[in-house]
Amino acid sequence: MVNQSKESKITLLGAGPGDPDLLTLKGVKALQTADVVLYDALTNEALLEHAPAEAIKVYVGKRSGEHSYPQDTINKLMIDYALNYGHVVRLKGGDPFVFGRGYEELDYAASYSIPVDVIPGISSSIGVPGLQQIPVTHRGLSESFWVITGTTTSGEVSNDIYQAAESNATVLVLMGLKKLARIVEIFKAAGRHNLPAAVVQNGSAADEKLVVGVVETIENLAKQENVKAPALLIFGEVVSLHPSFKTLVKQYASIA
Ligand code: SAH
Repeated sequence: MVNQSKESKITLLGAGPGDPDLLTLKGVKALQTADVVLYDALTNEALLEHAPAEAIKVYVGKRSGEHSYPQDTINKLMIDYALNYGHVVRLKGGDPFVFGRGYEELDYAASYSIPVDVIPGISSSIGVPGLQQIPVTHRGLSESFWVITGTTTSGEVSNDIYQAAESNATVLVLMGLKKLARIVEIFKAAGRHNLPAAVVQNGSAADEKLVVGVVETIENLAKQENVKAPALLIFGEVVSLHPSFKTLVKQYASIA
């Protein structure tokens, strides 16, 4: 049913890292007034229950690693639905502006003069370590953090990783699991063999998995535990605060 009497508007909504209870209250309210929800692969479908039963729900995520919906198609769908149905909620994993292509969508909507509201979400980059009780900063251990992509548009590891590996910052790598070997090499080249490191698979979800080690061991540990995407890589002294890191150190000490 096309309802042209409704005002067109778009809400770019961050869904948080996976657990549906990690959506903001403002996000719930936006979903309650949605006429259409366009949602990504990394958003929990349970969130759709906040939307009215009659709202149109469209999956625009990737299937088996393929971009089933090119960004261009998503942009056009979003405009088309907003013009014809009213309020489109564009539900995106984590925060819309952390490797979420949110600004491209905002820009596209602006070119049609459709108003856009942005509702931030808990980014996996900070939320996933936090849920593991790994702080991204901690007095005396880390004064800053970098959030870097492991896979740029050209398919390469971001060049920023070279500088990050030389720094004392906590380094959080998104979309980096397939590049773990390469990233580990970069840290080793910077002499950081013993830097604490962790990999978290699907943080806050039922199949969450965590491996904790150091730069030297983390790749093998992730392989042994068969860690799968989506996964966050965490490098930094703050990982040593995790309880399993202390056990690890004791094990090393008993071998040595
Ligand atoms: N906008 C999102 C990130 C999109 S890029 C955010 O702010 O979280 C997608 C990457 O994010 C994944 O490849 C993975 O590296 C990371 N990611 C997203 N959700 C995750 C989760 N629940 N656990 C671990 N990593 C996650």
